[in-house]
Amino acid sequence: MNPVKRIAIVGAGPVGLAAAAHALEYGIEPIVFERGPEAGHAIAQWGHVRMFSTWSLNIDAASARLLAKTGWKRPDDTGHPTGVELCDRYVAPLAATDAMRKAVRYRHTVRSIGRAGIDKVKNAGRAQAPYELIVDTPDGPWRFRADAVIDASGTWFAPNPAGADGRAAPGEAANAAHISYGMPDIAGAARARYAGKRIAVLGGGHSAIGTLIELAALAETAPGTRIVWLYRGMRLERAFGGGSADALAARGALGSEIAELVALGRIEVEKGFHLDAIEPGLVLRAGERRVTADELIVATGFRPDLDMLREVRLSLDPALECPAALGPLIDPNLHSCGTVRPHGAVELAHPDPGFYLAGMKAYGRAPTFLLATGYEQVRSIVAELAGDTVAARRVELVLPETGVCAGPVKTTVRVKAASAPAASAGCCGGPATVADACCVDDQEAKAAGEAGCGCAAPALISASQDTR
Ligand SMILES: Cc1cc2nc3c(=O)[nH]c(=O)nc-3n(C[C@H](O)[C@H](O)[C@H](O)COP(=O)(O)OP(=O)(O)OC[C@H]3O[C@@H](n4cnc5c(N)ncnc54)[C@H](O)[C@@H]3O)c2cc1C
Repeated sequence: MNPVKRIAIVGAGPVGLAAAAHALEYGIEPIVFERGPEAGHAIAQWGHVRMFSTWSLNIDAASARLLAKTGWKRPDDTGHPTGVELCDRYVAPLAATDAMRKAVRYRHTVRSIGRAGIDKVKNAGRAQAPYELIVDTPDGPWRFRADAVIDASGTWFAPNPAGADGRAAPGEAANAAHISYGMPDIAGAARARYAGKRIAVLGGGHSAIGTLIELAALAETAPGTRIVWLYRGMRLERAFGGGSADALAARGALGSEIAELVALGRIEVEKGFHLDAIEPGLVLRAGERRVTADELIVATGFRPDLDMLREVRLSLDPALECPAALGPLIDPNLHSCGTVRPHGAVELAHPDPGFYLAGMKAYGRAPTFLLATGYEQVRSIVAELAGDTVAARRVELVLPETGVCAGPVKTTVRVKAASAPAASAGCCGGPATVADACCVDDQEAKAAGEAGCGCAAPALISASQDTR
């Protein structure tokens, strides 16, 4: 497609703002629509959570260059901000720059994206038709046209329900008063709700683990607080993660801490718990098993809102609801370690050229998204839209490994960049360097005419799905 002049960006989260910063550097006009009253509106909902990635991974390069012109003081690269700190020290100052103040429209909710005057079925004239967004604004609906769209609207506002089948469990709505989703502020605003209660936490990812650790801390000062972890898989080791092998030390530490709490008996665990109904009195049912609690925290991950994309021709992975080419790189069924090769415009493209999902939303239902991934995505996407295909295809990042690889153990690390954190020697060779491989082993196996790396060892498949 021709280089674009104007990009519509959905969401003023860190990735949406980064996309705008890169667009500005290429002389492209960005217009950012944000449903909330401020930038980082989704992060503000989990502001009490301390991030496991350091500032060095949480700041986008083009955004930093924009901020540098304002006298902004860059936080110490080694610190781990909370969500509030990420907003106060980075997102808000970025949004306050002159360029961003011109670009971002707050309280503007994008309802629908399509091609102006052309429905999804029609081919004729499609390539020439600009994108048209229908946006709810404080002054009423607005139809806004742009040459390209980057949807960086995240997934925070669409948490997965409690049912093991991916749907709301029978009784979930009726018991809503005692159910919360995501990561409640247990040490702060939500303390009174949970102190002295029996609380069930459903899920196996970082949100569930962070919440369990917070509850264990609460139990130390609030007598009578009891915690039960409802875990879908049978092997807790998967949830414990890579421990000291994790290149993000704080992420590894979360796993080590929860392992210790479980070993000490401070958290009761119900393994293989596939929740299928919630009965009155918050009786949580999985087949014949029943667990009773006063409160349930559902930390089963998030899903993308695809309704507003109904008129865009998308190519999505059927399971993960992420761009199809990205699926094999991040699918926990296929590639257990969560270590992801950096990817950009090529992997994120859809049949409608000029439309991209980026940031947390680009991962669809897959876990393990990192901000650094999102920044690399939008750097590449914007370069592609500007016609700078060389920069679009250049890889400028190697992501830290999780250290939970299920593949054959390697003694040498073959993929490394100067700026990359040391890769784990226990992983399957590290991230691949070609598009159709999930890791170096996979890349080499395919080059040798074999099916792939086989990281989806059958015994580990169910455990690797345990973000729920
Ligand atoms: C509890 C938690 C902890 C995390 N910790 C880390 C960590 O330590 N390190 C790390 O790298 N990543 C972490 N992540 C993952 C990820 O980096 C963050 O979720 C990050 O905020 C994603 O940025 P984003 O810009 O893609 O999306 P978001 O920050 O979610 O921003 C999306 C924006 O779009 C807006 N929006 C949504 N819908 C619309 C609409 N229809 N119209 C207009 N605006 C809309 C939202 O209000 C929001 O402001 C964490 C995530 C969570 C939930």
